[in-house]
Amino acid sequence: MKKRNYYQVQVQSSQRLTPTMQRLVFQGEDLQRFPHDTPAGSYIKLLFNQYGESFTDAPAENETVLMRTYTVRHADAKTGTLTVDFMLHGEGVESGPASHWAVNAKPGDTLYFGGPGTSKGLADERDWVLLMGDMTALPAISAQLENLPADTKGYAVISIEDADDKQALTHPDNVDIIWVENAGSDTLASSLAAIRWLDGTPAVWAACEFSSMRAIRSALDEQFDIPRSQVYVTSYWRKGRSEDQHKIDKREDLAQYNG
Ligand SMILES: Cc1cc2nc3c(=O)[nH]c(=O)nc-3n(C[C@H](O)[C@H](O)[C@H](O)COP(=O)(O)OP(=O)(O)OC[C@H]3O[C@@H](n4cnc5c(N)ncnc54)[C@H](O)[C@@H]3O)c2cc1C
Repeated sequence: MKKRNYYQVQVQSSQRLTPTMQRLVFQGEDLQRFPHDTPAGSYIKLLFNQYGESFTDAPAENETVLMRTYTVRHADAKTGTLTVDFMLHGEGVESGPASHWAVNAKPGDTLYFGGPGTSKGLADERDWVLLMGDMTALPAISAQLENLPADTKGYAVISIEDADDKQALTHPDNVDIIWVENAGSDTLASSLAAIRWLDGTPAVWAACEFSSMRAIRSALDEQFDIPRSQVYVTSYWRKGRSEDQHKIDKREDLAQYNG
């Protein structure tokens, strides 16, 4: 990534939103050139060195850079701030540089990031919506819910680690929020059977752990007759694999799936 594509920001505030979610708000002059109107669910790439530390100066061409992908939870042009919600997993840098950095970040700490990138959203042609995800997708689901037309119908099914990980979400009245606790890899997929399917064509969007993603995808393909154009199901991480390894697995899986 070229230097001019990096943004240098400082932590303005850090807050434990719920037991498993840390919210960091960033500020900095570079955010003046950040596209604040980036679509809901857009992501950025946070940069860490091989020790899991953020960079205090822009990384040199020959430096090792670990990139970790996070959703833009909120970009506020008025206050010039950017909000990112980190799902916390494990203690220590070996459990993951991004999660480790986020839990220890203090106001004034510097972070470099690249982006933003946009990911696929809900299909535009639809009678109702179904959003599904684990806590890594909660920021993307929350941002999408905030942007849906007020008359949207459907469901958001979100798996959480702890009962207190529920958040107050802004959403259309007729989109029901279903929280699923202590989820295993097939819990989100199983919850499909418990949903009262609405009339018409749904648009489905799901993001979660790799095995969960595959279970949801199989369930949608085998048990529900939804055209593939109405479905976007992706993995945001994989158990036992770093983001770099997961990226390779994801590419191979997609190539196989699309056959
Ligand atoms: C488009 C996109 C948007 C994303 N947005 C967000 C977001 O807004 N918030 C967010 O928290 N995550 C988000 N993620 C997921 C995040 O990028 C991964 O969880 C990432 O692996 C975390 O990096 P790390 O350095 O903490 O761990 P890594 O170094 O990548 O992994 C180290 C170890 O931790 C495990 N691990 C990684 N993530 C988790 C997890 N969530 N739970 C349990 N174990 C885990 C891995 O399996 C591995 O064994 C997003 C991913 C994508 C692709």
